[in-house]
Amino acid sequence: MSEATERKVGMAIMAHPDDYEFGAAGTIAKWIREGWTFHYVICTDGGGGGSDEARDCGPAARRELNKLRRREQRAAGDVLGLDQIFFLDHIDGQLQNTIELRRELVRLIRRYRPTRVLIPSPDRVWHPEYHVKRHHPDHMACGDAALAALYPAAQNPWDFPELLDQGLMPHQVSEFYVTGAPVINHAEEIKDTMDVKIAALAEHKSQVGMRIDDLGKMLRDGARDRGKEHGMKLAEVFHKIVNA
Ligand SMILES: [Zn+2]
Repeated sequence: MSEATERKVGMAIMAHPDDYEFGAAGTIAKWIREGWTFHYVICTDGGGGGSDEARDCGPAARRELNKLRRREQRAAGDVLGLDQIFFLDHIDGQLQNTIELRRELVRLIRRYRPTRVLIPSPDRVWHPEYHVKRHHPDHMACGDAALAALYPAAQNPWDFPELLDQGLMPHQVSEFYVTGAPVINHAEEIKDTMDVKIAALAEHKSQVGMRIDDLGKMLRDGARDRGKEHGMKLAEVFHKIVNA
């Protein structure tokens, strides 16, 4: 077994706090139970995810929301058993696939050297089942930047040579798991961690509030449907890329 496959370190890169409590936390919790160390990287400050009824959405209100959402994400992370959570604090609602964002992601990938990385799909899925929230522009910008960071930049010494001077050597991530992708080729059984996933989601009180029972049922029903398609009880699904 190579050093890369023995190293049980994972990283989930997402746009907003709560994205992966919806999308992949059952799988992440399962892998943590199997001995994996998992880090979250959250690209935006979450300051644009307040109430639809709000009319004071200025800088002070956004800063308060940022603090609240960090606290909620840390609480959700404790439920899942995450190791570290990195907040990159780009403006929520304005995330772009920039070279600066790519460099930030490469820096973290080279420093923590994960074997598995989860990222959102950079592509839209034109299917009636897909809620429009899946196509939030921040999610797609995050997916684009993360994919560019994973390949080739993280593993290529010629990308961001200044990182070599900081001791951040190239690192090849072995497995990419893309959530919300147009083509699904991989499923993970989450029957033993579905409750943990919903408990983690419930910590995002400012987002899910009183709707947690309905959301929990919706997520469970969705996982059951995905499970049926893949011969499992409850499943989360991905497009898995093996970067050999
Ligand atoms: Zn989001």
